[in-house]
Amino acid sequence: MTDKDKRFPLSLGSIGVRSPQAIGDRNAARRSVATPQTATRNAARHGERMPLPAAAPARAAPQRIQSDPDRATPLISPAVRRAMVERIARQGVQDRRVLAAMESVPRHLFMEPALSSQAYIDASLPIGYHQTISQPYIVARMIEVLCGASNGARLERVLEIGTGCGYQAAVLAHVARDVYSIERIKPLHELARSNLRPMRIANIRLHYGDGMLGLPQAAPFDGIILAAAGLEVPQALLEQLTVGGRLVAPVGARHQVLQLIERIGPSEWTTATLEDCHFVPLRAGTA
Ligand code: SAH
Repeated sequence: MTDKDKRFPLSLGSIGVRSPQAIGDRNAARRSVATPQTATRNAARHGERMPLPAAAPARAAPQRIQSDPDRATPLISPAVRRAMVERIARQGVQDRRVLAAMESVPRHLFMEPALSSQAYIDASLPIGYHQTISQPYIVARMIEVLCGASNGARLERVLEIGTGCGYQAAVLAHVARDVYSIERIKPLHELARSNLRPMRIANIRLHYGDGMLGLPQAAPFDGIILAAAGLEVPQALLEQLTVGGRLVAPVGARHQVLQLIERIGPSEWTTATLEDCHFVPLRAGTA
C-alpha cells in the first residue's frame, strides 16, 4: 500500500538518495478499504444546477450563508454530526483531535441552504463554479495524516491549497495554531470569508491567489494540504515545508491517489501513496 518512490518534480540532483524511510502511517493496513472522494463526479452530477458565473450572473455574487442557529433543524442537529463522525471513525480515522474537530464544525453552514440537509452524508457536494466541498471522510483522513508526525502536539503552521467554501480550513483551525488558506477563484475566496466571519475563528488567514506558488511570505509550514489534484505536487510547495513537515495531496488525473510527502532533510523528501481518491483539478493562475 505504501510506495516510497521519490516521484515528485524535483531535479534528481536535489534529491538525496536514502534508503526508503518508513512513513508514520500507523493505520495503513486497517485503512485499506477507503471511500473514494467523489468530488468531480458530484460536481458533474450537479453541473446543470451549478453553471459557471458567466452563464449565470445570479450565482456570480456569492451569497452569504446564514449562521442563524434556527437553521439547526432536526435534520442537521448535533446528533446528525455525531453520526457522521462515528461513520468516519468506522472508516478508519482514529485521531481523536480530528474526530473532535469534525464534530464541532457545523458543515451545513458552509453550503447553500438547499443542500444543507445533505451536509452530513458521505459525499462531496457542489459549492458553485464547478467546485465542491470535500467528502467528510477524506477531510478527516487527510488532516489525520497531516497530524501524524506531531505526536499529539498541535500543528503550528498549516497551509491549505483550495479554500473552496472554507469548511476544511475551519476543521484545520482546531488542530493547528495558524491556518493559511489560498483560493484561486475570487468569488469562492469571498464566499469562504463570509462563511467563516460569523464563526469568529481567529487563527485562519485567507488569501486569494494561485496556491501552486504557495505562500512564501508565511513559509515554512509544518503541514501543507491540497484540496485539488495536480499531476504532480508543485515544487514551490515542497520547498515551503519545514524539515520534518508533512504535505498531503491528491495526485493524478482520472486515477488519483492520496500522497503523503515528508521533508526529511534540506533537500530530501520521501513520498508514500496511501489510497485512491477523487478531487477537482488543481489549476494554475487565478479566476
Ligand atoms: N477545501 C474545500 C475544498 C474545495 S474544492 C473544502 O473545505 O471542502 C478545491 C478548491 O481548490 C476549489 O475551490 C478550487 O478553486 C481550488 N483550487 C484549484 N486549484 C487551485 C490553486 N492553484 N490555488 C488555489 N486554489 C485552487
